[in-house]
Amino acid sequence: MVVDQSFNIRISGQRLGLHEFDFSVDDSFFSAFERSQIQTGNVSVHAEMDRKEREFDIRLSLKGRVDQTCVRCLEMGQLNIAAEERLFFELHPIDAVEETDDEIIRLPMDLLELDLSQPIYEMISLCLPMRFTCENVGQNCDPEMEKLIQGESNEKMDESDAVDPRWEALKKLK
Ligand SMILES: [Zn+2]
Repeated sequence: MVVDQSFNIRISGQRLGLHEFDFSVDDSFFSAFERSQIQTGNVSVHAEMDRKEREFDIRLSLKGRVDQTCVRCLEMGQLNIAAEERLFFELHPIDAVEETDDEIIRLPMDLLELDLSQPIYEMISLCLPMRFTCENVGQNCDPEMEKLIQGESNEKMDESDAVDPRWEALKKLK
């Protein structure tokens, strides 16, 4: 995965204490993720890291908007999103990194930088409704498009009915 802009936080040689970082997510960010449910959007991300000797916790907060396509009428809608999350990390010798912990993410001791693009992407994805419709952004669906799409899916259903053996039998009766 390649993201144009860096979403990395320097770990190696970083002094202890509080550090703050700002990132901005744009269209290129989403295109770096295969099968992304989001293609376009603008999201500001703020990260606060409390660095200790071997542990550090990062508070991520984000705010912005992402564009989604209505599943009913295919209109684009701008969805406002906001989310906060806290991540805990711990540095470990390389042979102990594989041991998992629910709360704490283990990282190798010699890690230079921590890439936050994956957690940021997951946070944004969790803001999306299961099925985005115009209602999610307080809009009404385009009734013409809705009718058209409804018609198309009915047609598709007819096609699959055609392979139904009962239909085949009826055809023979003609
Ligand atoms: Zn719609």
